[in-house]
Amino acid sequence: MLYCSKCQLLVKDEMRRCPVCSSKKLRTPEQDDPVLLMTASEEKAGMIRAAFRDKGVVFEERSRGIGGPPSTIVGKPSNTDINFFVRYGELHACEDILRGIGILDASDAELHKPADKTGSTDIPESAPEEMSAGKRFFIRAVSAIVFIFLVWGVVAFADWAAEALKAFFTR
Ligand SMILES: [Zn+2]
Repeated sequence: MLYCSKCQLLVKDEMRRCPVCSSKKLRTPEQDDPVLLMTASEEKAGMIRAAFRDKGVVFEERSRGIGGPPSTIVGKPSNTDINFFVRYGELHACEDILRGIGILDASDAELHKPADKTGSTDIPESAPEEMSAGKRFFIRAVSAIVFIFLVWGVVAFADWAAEALKAFFTR
């Protein structure tokens, strides 16, 4: 995950430039960097504010204005959107809080999930949805099988190639 210090926005590694200001001056986020958690409507902002104060989360809210990221990138569009910034180190905890009060749904959570695992290695052990955990396991199992077949295929091909070469030279 990269970080645009100008927009205080997390940027996926593969994007290489900030989607908002197009800056290429991206760096690795640090624990204390303020990052955009989400953009919320006035109504939701009240809930988020209350939940964060309740949990003692350090956060900052700014009305969308000059230089604010377009809501199409960071959240649902609305006229009175408020951007919530939290410490990068607390991003996951904050997402959990938002999920807890029903602000974030699964797709929102995906949006802000870092692509790499350097920040925090916390893949929740107890996934709330049995289905998705099962699906994850299935994909993992299938990819393991595919990998075994791949290795077998390479070995088999190497054997075949060796035989073919031997046959070619002993002709
Ligand atoms: Zn930027």
